Amino acid sequence: MYILVINSGSSSIKYQLFDMPSEQVVCFGGIERIGSKEAVFSYNTISVSMTENMEIQTHKAGLKQIAERLLHVEKGVIADSEEVKAVGHRVVHGGNSFSNTTVIDAFVKEKIKTFSALAPLHNPANLEGIVLAEVLFPHALQVAVFDTAFHQSMPEKARKYAIPKELFTNHNIQAYGFHGTSHKYVTAKTLEHLKLVGSKLITIHLGNGCSITAVKNGKSLDHSMGFAPSNGLIMGSRSGDIDHSIIFHLANKLDYDLTEIEALLLKKSGLLGLTGYNDLRDIQKEAQQGNPDCRLALEMAAYRIKKYIGAYAAVMNGLDGIVFTAGIGENSAILRKMICEDLDVFGIRLDSDKNDAKSDGLREIQSESSQVKILVVPTNEELEIAKQAFELHALL
Ligand code: AMP
Repeated sequence: MYILVINSGSSSIKYQLFDMPSEQVVCFGGIERIGSKEAVFSYNTISVSMTENMEIQTHKAGLKQIAERLLHVEKGVIADSEEVKAVGHRVVHGGNSFSNTTVIDAFVKEKIKTFSALAPLHNPANLEGIVLAEVLFPHALQVAVFDTAFHQSMPEKARKYAIPKELFTNHNIQAYGFHGTSHKYVTAKTLEHLKLVGSKLITIHLGNGCSITAVKNGKSLDHSMGFAPSNGLIMGSRSGDIDHSIIFHLANKLDYDLTEIEALLLKKSGLLGLTGYNDLRDIQKEAQQGNPDCRLALEMAAYRIKKYIGAYAAVMNGLDGIVFTAGIGENSAILRKMICEDLDVFGIRLDSDKNDAKSDGLREIQSESSQVKILVVPTNEELEIAKQAFELHALL
């Protein structure tokens, strides 16, 4: 049975077509730079692999292009849109309305629209993808998988901010948490691998966006991102944690307006703000060549993560495993080493050779004397979405 997964971002769409339950990827690709004459469209099957530059001005045009390719007489993989039984959509913000994967109806769409105020870069694009998929795949079950859902298990003491309580009660101002599909996926993979019962894990998603979760007995207990996907760790261009008095200082003393401050903290800060680069590969290369800003940025990024590891080991009263995932977490041996250095106090000891060894699969990289397992677990948000859509389809 075919399940199409759509991850609609602000200027991109990623897609994968799965044959379920075998989990075989029949086709995958994406469109980047939507809105430009030079959008990049990629399409890959077992026999075709192509990347083309073309004008794609809107998400609507992009999704149409994808559907046309899937149905193409020679290069396509399906003969009729009816073969797609479900479309799984990644939706970034589901507020506290959704703790599970949900069949999309008018109510769900209205809620996604409401939460656009809290995720303005993501939710409108997610909704647009849904509306178009309903037209292009009218026979398919449309399913929403929310990034926030996994973190609905966070207790009030972790999710509430110490601000007047009416803001929580009347306006839902609280921590929601993000990257939930990834944290959930790598948690399940780790628990399956370690065969742990009663587990205390820390999952660290380090990609363009970065976040860290304390996962107790398979459930999110605390998480570094909060009300929006901006808090916590140092990211590609987002500052993560800062003292909020800086915002007042920027506005009151340095004449920034709120739009400028938002852009400053979300698009011009993080690794980019510290070094001029937002891709960790460039920063590592520069650091190796002696660039002091790049060296310091790596140290700051690792230091911030160490602080969260300490905090989460404390709130869970112990630690069984640390899990690294996403583009940086899976590939940067340098950063993993810097993070795990001098964490003997928690029984965390890395094996340098295992850490340096290249592999695409799940692997353990702790030394024999380590009391805590250290794992690299490749994330697969698309597969997690396909699995959840498949399970929901089977229930109906
Ligand atoms: P993601 O958002 O998970 O796709 O991660 C993207 C980020 O991963 C890129 O911006 C890079 O900073 C980082 N990345 C990808 N490959 C590598 C690598 N081999 N070494 C270090 N960082 C990498």
